[in-house]
Amino acid sequence: MWRRLPLYWKILLGMFAGVLIGIAAVAAGADWLVRDWVKPFGVIFLNLLKLIAVPLIFASLVTGIAGLKDISRLSRIGVKTIAIYILTTVLAVTIGLLLVNLVQPGNSFPAEKRVEFLARYGGDVEGQQVTAAGLLEGSPLQFLVEAIPENAVAAASENRNMLQVIFFAMLFGVAMVAVRHPHVEVVSGFISGVNEIVLKMIEFIMRFAPVGVLALMAGLIVDFSGDSLADSLHLFTTLGLYALVVIGGLLAVALLLYPLFIRVFSGVSFRQFYRALFPVQLVAFSTSSSAATLPVTMEQVEKELGVSNEITSFVLPVGVTINMDGTSLYQAVAAVFIAQVFGIELTLAQQLTIIVTATLASIGTAGVPGAGIVMLIIVLNAVGLPVEGLALILAVDRPLDMLRTVLNVTGDAMVATIIAKSEGKRITAGT
Ligand code: ASP
Repeated sequence: MWRRLPLYWKILLGMFAGVLIGIAAVAAGADWLVRDWVKPFGVIFLNLLKLIAVPLIFASLVTGIAGLKDISRLSRIGVKTIAIYILTTVLAVTIGLLLVNLVQPGNSFPAEKRVEFLARYGGDVEGQQVTAAGLLEGSPLQFLVEAIPENAVAAASENRNMLQVIFFAMLFGVAMVAVRHPHVEVVSGFISGVNEIVLKMIEFIMRFAPVGVLALMAGLIVDFSGDSLADSLHLFTTLGLYALVVIGGLLAVALLLYPLFIRVFSGVSFRQFYRALFPVQLVAFSTSSSAATLPVTMEQVEKELGVSNEITSFVLPVGVTINMDGTSLYQAVAAVFIAQVFGIELTLAQQLTIIVTATLASIGTAGVPGAGIVMLIIVLNAVGLPVEGLALILAVDRPLDMLRTVLNVTGDAMVATIIAKSEGKRITAGT
């Protein structure tokens, strides 16, 4: 029975069980039980996903490039991918801006709460500021410089250097195709064999997903209830309208904008797309990391949506690093919310600056938990808003992070199907 259940059901059940276990532990005052005996399995699951990322990107991208009949296609796919990524991000930010200006959640935020939140979370903001200050230094081309590693092994040793791994794999793949030599064919066959093995490893890891997700959720519930329940409820009611605007924006993109793109450009049906993506979204939700979710995204988009490896191997890893529709939308809403709370009227030019900087900031955001709020500092700086404003939204950031990560991975997968269709590369979708 369990074996025949579709993956998303298993993960969903794991998630519910995790929430129940978390709540039960908190209610019984047995938080330690979850912390010591359940949460570690969540960390193990996360580590397993991260473990596979570098070999997956390398083997899959090199195999993908080797499969391209002509290399000029690579640059065409590259240009199209980046253009669509930027377009969807700008649209997502615009939707966020429209909503936050319409609902104006910051205007009803009580002044005494502002003082209270600034005092309470102000200290936490300093750490984020230091991280963002480092990012702001250097030339505007810094991101390009950083994409080119000076040491291949060092690049592969850090999951944060995904763009560097992508660069190395592309250079390697293109050079491999350019050399005609029997020895090179051996290498090509070897890497494609590694690719098959890595895919099998993902399959094994995903069998552990229901338990991993259970442990992650139980751990989150226990961590969340660190403060008293009444305290957490109080936070949610004060910041409720802001959170609702972010959630409304994410839903508008997922349920209105994406279906439009999917319908017009992708050749898959809305239902088919979301059915295939559901397990990916559940993993994104419970890990809050689009980078950690990448192996699952690749597996589902290839297997269930029939997008070929040539496309997914390039489009998805690049998407994880540069395409974050959920994060950019959230950054726009958060920036305007902070302005509203501080009673700062934003001009049209400033709102346009938010569109540009939120798009750029989301490109620079790593696909790891909490990265979006650090990059928000860049948006705030660009329009001259007080960085202390982060203290206002910090308390509800984690749940919003979970949700925006879901949109981030959904956007990447959607673009993969569009590129596949435009390249005539989509095979029939799986069952
Ligand atoms: N957690 C997000 C992701 O991994 C990034 C963020 O917005 O913090 O996609």
